[in-house]
Amino acid sequence: MARVAIVTGGTRGIGEAISVGLKNAGYKVAANYAGNDERAKGFAERTGIAVFRWDVCDYDQCQQGVAKVAAELGPVDVLVNNAGITRDATMRKMGRKGWDEVIDTNLGGVFNMAKAVWDGMLERGFGRVVNIGSINGQAGQYGQVNYAAAKSGIHGFTKALAQEGASKGVTVNAIAPGYIDTDMVSAVPPNVLEKIVARIPVGRLGKADEIARAVLFLVADEGGFITGSTLSINGGQHMY
Ligand code: NDP
Repeated sequence: MARVAIVTGGTRGIGEAISVGLKNAGYKVAANYAGNDERAKGFAERTGIAVFRWDVCDYDQCQQGVAKVAAELGPVDVLVNNAGITRDATMRKMGRKGWDEVIDTNLGGVFNMAKAVWDGMLERGFGRVVNIGSINGQAGQYGQVNYAAAKSGIHGFTKALAQEGASKGVTVNAIAPGYIDTDMVSAVPPNVLEKIVARIPVGRLGKADEIARAVLFLVADEGGFITGSTLSINGGQHMY
């Protein structure tokens, strides 16, 4: 039986590559998104992957979303917590709203989604959770106290939850991407991006597919001994 996977923020960027990679590997995939219906529709038509709209910040929507996926595709074996946003500003300029939005989406969303799948995974004795962190959660980044705090939180969350799932066949790991060529990075001003690329030893931005293949590695049935780990994929920019 094909395993069922949910990818949050699975219709664009890194999430799109993960959704497609999982589908090509034989998984039944549900790609979640927040509100960009046009991109989600184009993605669904192009890939044939089912799309589901809900806000990962909302606890109840996550419970209902997971129940809907389970009813349509089957019980969820794999959760990839990929949805994330940035609201960059220096501390002097950052308001409480920019802080809350990033923490609620990038960290609160990870809790909400893990909570919605966790009991089922434990009961069935199998589960794979992969959380997408960031190089900026490991190293910090100017103008990103909100994002760095949320992503750093993901790394702690991963190590703690991994301990709860370990004896039950449920693994929890994180990936910390460096700078990957997606809409999120296109939002960085070109002069800043140029300086960032100059600091990447590999000499270029990463590709979304290069993150997707690591997800496939971690969620494989054979991956039962890999848990609580963070895989850094950043072209050598930060050796953690
Ligand atoms: P994109 O901005 O390209 O895509 C973000 C995706 O997340 C979209 O599908 C979006 O949905 C979805 N999303 C955002 N908020 C919510 C929400 N509240 N509920 C459900 N879905 C939501 O991002 P990237 O592909 O660049 O990034 C993916 C992940 O990788 C993020 O967690 C990011 O922090 C992380 N990352 C990215 C790096 C990079 O260089 N790009 C580097 C390190 C980490 P919609 O289309 O509806 O808006």
